[in-house]
Amino acid sequence: MKQVRTRFAPSPTGFLHIGGLRTALYAWLYAKQNDGVFVLRVEDTDQGREVEGAKQVIYSTLRATGLTYDEGPDVGGDFGPYIQSERKQIYADHAQTLIDSRAAYRCFCTKERLADERRKAEKSGRNYTYDMHCLGLSEQDIQDKLTAGETFVVRQNIPKDGDTTYSDAVFGDITVPNSDLDDNVLLKTDGMPTYNLANVVDDHLMGITHVIRGVEYLSSTPKYNHLYRAFGWTLPRYIHLPVVMKDKQRKLSKRHGDASFDDFIKKGYLKEALLNYIALLGWSPGTDQEIFTLEGLTKAFSISGLSKSPAIFDTDKLTWMNAQYIRALSEADFIATAMPYFKECGADAFDLKLITQIMQPRLETLTEIPVKLAFLSKMPEFSQQMYFHKRMKTDAQTSLPVLKEALSLLTAHEDYSMEPLKEALMGLVEKLEIKNGQLLWPLRVAITGTQVTPGGAVEAACLLGKEETLNRLKASIAKNK
Ligand code: GLU
Repeated sequence: MKQVRTRFAPSPTGFLHIGGLRTALYAWLYAKQNDGVFVLRVEDTDQGREVEGAKQVIYSTLRATGLTYDEGPDVGGDFGPYIQSERKQIYADHAQTLIDSRAAYRCFCTKERLADERRKAEKSGRNYTYDMHCLGLSEQDIQDKLTAGETFVVRQNIPKDGDTTYSDAVFGDITVPNSDLDDNVLLKTDGMPTYNLANVVDDHLMGITHVIRGVEYLSSTPKYNHLYRAFGWTLPRYIHLPVVMKDKQRKLSKRHGDASFDDFIKKGYLKEALLNYIALLGWSPGTDQEIFTLEGLTKAFSISGLSKSPAIFDTDKLTWMNAQYIRALSEADFIATAMPYFKECGADAFDLKLITQIMQPRLETLTEIPVKLAFLSKMPEFSQQMYFHKRMKTDAQTSLPVLKEALSLLTAHEDYSMEPLKEALMGLVEKLEIKNGQLLWPLRVAITGTQVTPGGAVEAACLLGKEETLNRLKASIAKNK
């Protein structure tokens, strides 16, 4: 059997879309599980849209997620160049081959003429397709126009009779009438190919056996097949993936900050969790298993588990999965992963092992860290309203005597580690004949200035240590008038 070769072919837009990353993942998995080759090809023929540094984003994201490529722009390979803008001559030669066999033709139509035709079609409620005006040009007409220096594009000459049936591993066999297929542009006036030409030429020349890509390319696939046939090439196996949606109506969008790999890393998700979650967007292992390493996915992945229906990106599910991954980290790995967030709020000056013990089991995203630990390095100004707790029936007034009792207890108490501290405070609760919360709620407010911290008053006092706890408590009591 021929060696499996898959590819990921992103356009350098400056960010890696979640849907793109999923395509890369599936293509990588399929190659790996078949001892095949995974190729990266950068599709930068739309140079007006090229963003500075965008290629680096692609390279670094694939490396960071472990989706390393065997061939690609910055690693080389026998089928390069792997950047489309460096393959211009290859496309020009192939376009010429198509022109020679009349599978394509030069089109000299001006922008104005095309716009006019489009307007007419729209006015009469027709779907616009090119009217093949230049298909009928004689050899002499063409030569005259070329001599006069008229610019032209190369269009595909699609047979207009009959049907084309094409086959996709996920969507099955699809038949379309050829008359529905537009004579699209293959080569633009600047000599750059369109996707229609470049994907066919490159997938063939790079020996791609399985084309895995988004469903948005499915309906154009019969056109690509006409090109394969015109060249006399074997068709690849097509695997089109369902679209990834934010909800039933909306796509994930850059504008909402929920479209790219980086967006989610910035929001405090671990790359391993994100990749695991993405694997399940449109693919099911056929079991209840949800947590997969990349290695596990390589074994479990199958084309037959892919779905046709749009996949909805469920952030709650991702968050749940992220928490599982955070929990599974060793203490050292958790500290290393969380360090930038500790530093952001000055928590790195505190007992990180203790912070880890308190936070790791409850954390869902890393970005919660600076929010929940900000109180450590700086006591925030807080309103006396914070003492109010409806169910505990506490407010600033009821809290004052309790806080004073707590102050004398905590002054006398020496061991500020968790268990002894907890025991001492529970002793006070008993002595005062109040509920736990009637002490712990106001105490946390008094020493942290906030109502949300990892753990409660005991954990906060433990992290702050005796001196700081007492200073804060005294200051808060003084303010509670
Ligand atoms: N450059 C195309 C995109 O980014 C790739 C499509 C494909 O995988 O063939 O959408």
